[in-house]
Amino acid sequence: MTASEHNDERTPVDGQSSPVAPHANTALSYARHALYNDCGGGSTAGLVHLTVASVSLELGAFSKAMDGFQKALAAAQAHNDNSLLLQVYVGLSELWRRLRDTERAVACAARACDLGRGPNSADLNTRHHRAALLQMAAALRAREPGDARDYCTEALRLAAVAGDQGCYARAVRIAGDVYRRKCDIGKALRHYEVAMGAGQALGDRLAQMEAMDGAARCLEALRLQGRICNCRPLEFNTRLLEVATSVGAKMLVRRIRLRLAGIYSALGDAAGAARVTRSALATATPRCARCRRAIGDVPAPLAALPCAHIVHHACLPESWSRRSARGAAGGAECAECASPRGPRAPPPAPPAPRHLPQEFPFGTPPTLRDSDLNSIFSDHSSQQATSSV
Ligand SMILES: [Zn+2]
Ligand SMILES: [Zn+2]
Repeated sequence: MTASEHNDERTPVDGQSSPVAPHANTALSYARHALYNDCGGGSTAGLVHLTVASVSLELGAFSKAMDGFQKALAAAQAHNDNSLLLQVYVGLSELWRRLRDTERAVACAARACDLGRGPNSADLNTRHHRAALLQMAAALRAREPGDARDYCTEALRLAAVAGDQGCYARAVRIAGDVYRRKCDIGKALRHYEVAMGAGQALGDRLAQMEAMDGAARCLEALRLQGRICNCRPLEFNTRLLEVATSVGAKMLVRRIRLRLAGIYSALGDAAGAARVTRSALATATPRCARCRRAIGDVPAPLAALPCAHIVHHACLPESWSRRSARGAAGGAECAECASPRGPRAPPPAPPAPRHLPQEFPFGTPPTLRDSDLNSIFSDHSSQQATSSV
């Protein structure tokens, strides 16, 4: 069964590191519905903002995501809700990571890890704590793979104790990323396969998609080295494109299309290459709200304006230091807000969902496979032994 054949739904407020599941738009409609009807108020509204932010992030709508995170942050602070605060920092870390501001990504993940440790040891293994560890591993993997692996190993250990398959799938995938960056493609691929299997067993299309993307990058490396032919990467990327399209992960769809263009070129299909390149480039990329140059293509320090638009840190005016920016009106110096399109009108009130799911939409998760875990751990220790130089 392929990923796209899964068709499950999740409650929008999940609290995992990536609370987004398939049917992002359905999730958004539930979330907006909850906000619209002011269900619960207080930190519940914060959780809804967090959910909207996380879904938007997955859809590549970065300033919308930032807007949600800012609102969720304010709610968490107003209600002294540390668990919500932790989740917001995990989300913010992921946003900065995707836009390639590693410094900020690590700082936010570190804040989440601190919150996850909590005041007493009973708090040590909550799912939020595990999500914070995973996010730290994700943020560090490009810069300090050794540290990233340590965070991964700890998350894996805690996932095994808690029987948390979702954390397990993501930790194995991030461990795969670490191996890939160390150019240990064989080990990376094995990790991605395990992560894909775990994601599939859970019906977690996002986890599956992320693992598939890792595997696709490995295949691309092997293809460019001439170690495999173009067929398998072509087939695999085509399948991944379907999954990413169904999830709505725009940035990933763009990357996959560019990869496919390379494969078509290598196969001598210039027309096909031109076609997918065109559709890739038609995808809007995030831009700095002041200088309008693209952000996220190269690593650079970034910042968020009070209006939630994102800019290069270098483009931030002096007068907009963190403190003074808080209360300032965002429009004046933000090109995005000043453009005829902006500022964005608030979303129209959504129609009420016709029916809410009858059953709590998590089945019983399958048990952790000891054999998998053992092989992951032994991989780590053997790697540790060989890479201590
Ligand atoms: Zn700029
Ligand atoms: Zn703005």
